[in-house]
Amino acid sequence: MQPPTAPHPGSHHPGGGHPSEIGGVGSVRPEGYVFNRAPMLVYWETTLSCGLACRHCRAEANTNRAPDELTTAEGLQLLDRLTGFGQPYPHVVFTGGDPLRREDLELLVAAATARGIGASLAPAATSMLTAGRLAALKAAGIQTMSLSIDGSTPALHDGFRGVPGTFDATIEAAGIAHEVGLPLQINTLVTDETLSDLPATYELMKTLGIIRWSLFFLISVGRGSALNEISAGDGEKLNHWLYDLSKTSPFAIKTTEATHYRRVAIKRMQAEGLDNAAILATSVGRGFGVRDGNGIMFVSSNGTVFPSGFLPLAVGNVRVDDPVAIYRRHPIFQSLRAADLLKGRCGRCEYAEVCGGSRARAYAWTGDVLEADPLCPYVPSGQPRVRFD
Ligand code: SF4
Repeated sequence: MQPPTAPHPGSHHPGGGHPSEIGGVGSVRPEGYVFNRAPMLVYWETTLSCGLACRHCRAEANTNRAPDELTTAEGLQLLDRLTGFGQPYPHVVFTGGDPLRREDLELLVAAATARGIGASLAPAATSMLTAGRLAALKAAGIQTMSLSIDGSTPALHDGFRGVPGTFDATIEAAGIAHEVGLPLQINTLVTDETLSDLPATYELMKTLGIIRWSLFFLISVGRGSALNEISAGDGEKLNHWLYDLSKTSPFAIKTTEATHYRRVAIKRMQAEGLDNAAILATSVGRGFGVRDGNGIMFVSSNGTVFPSGFLPLAVGNVRVDDPVAIYRRHPIFQSLRAADLLKGRCGRCEYAEVCGGSRARAYAWTGDVLEADPLCPYVPSGQPRVRFD
C-alpha cells in the first residue's frame, strides 16, 4: 500500500493529512482498514522540544526536552502495543516538537520497521535536519516526510515560524529530502493571514518537486488562538479553488480539518460525470471518512492519548492503558466514529459518513465534540446519506 505521507496534526506540520478510508462506522478501506478496529494513522509526538517557536504551534513546543517524555523503553512498548491492532497495522508519524531532537529516533524508527509498522517523519527545518540524519532515518525505515511552508516569501513564512531564516532552511530541507530520496509533503497553514498568499504559495509548491500539498485550516488551539480562522464563505471558495487546482497540479492536494472539501469535490466530480467507483479511486475518495478519532489517534510526548492533535480530550495514557483498548472502546472514540450521533447540520447532512466535519473545530467552538463544524456553510438537502461502500 502507498504509505501515508508524513501528515501531522501538531506543531510544525499541521498537515495532519489524513489519508483515508471509505464511509464511516465499520467501513473497510481497500487496503483493509476497518476504523472500528484500528486507526490508519498514529501520530506520536515524540518530544515537545523544538528550536522554532511557531505562532500556531499546537504543541507549544519548548527548547528543552520535558522530563516526562516517553522513554526509549516506553516508546518500544508503545510500538509493541500498536501491533495489538493486528494487520494492517497503523502507520506511525514521528512528530513533535522536533523528533530530530530525540537521539533514539533512528532506534525507534528501526523498531517500528522491524515490527512491520510503516513510519513517516515530520521534522522541523533547523540545523538538525541534515542529509546524514535523513539518510540514517531513511535507512531505518522512514518512508515519507513533511515540512511546513506558510508563506511564499521569507518574510511571510518566518513571521509565522518565529525564527528568521526558517523559510530558507525549509527550502534547503526540501532539497535534502530529494537528495536522500524521501517523498515530500508540504503543509501550509490556512488562516485569514495566509489566505491571500495561497496562490503565490501554490506557485512555490510547483518548484519543490513535492508529492502532496496539504492545507491545514486553522483551529484555535495552542498558539493558533493568536491567529484567525477564515470565514465559512472564504473556506467554501477556497475548497472550490483547490478542486480546480487539483485538476492540473503536479502533486496531490488535500485539506486537513476541512473535511467538507470532500463534499465540494464529490459534487464537482458528479457534475463532471464521474461514477462512485471513479470518485472513490481519486485521492479525495481515498480520504473519505477520516476525521479526528475515526482512523486517527494521537499520542502526546508524555503518552497521553487524544483522538487527534487538535482535539484536547485526553482519553488515557499509553504508560498504563492499552492503546488498542482505548481506541476501540473509549466512549469518546466510539462516538467520534458514529456519524449517526453527529448533531446540527452535520447530523442532518447527507455527507456525514464521508465528511462528518472537523470534530476538533466543533469542540473548540462549542465545547461539544459532536456539534456541527462551524467552518462549513452547507445546508443539508434532506437526501439520504451519500455512501460509497
Ligand atoms: S454539514 Fe458537516 S457533514 Fe455536511 S459537508 Fe458540512 S461539515 Fe461535512
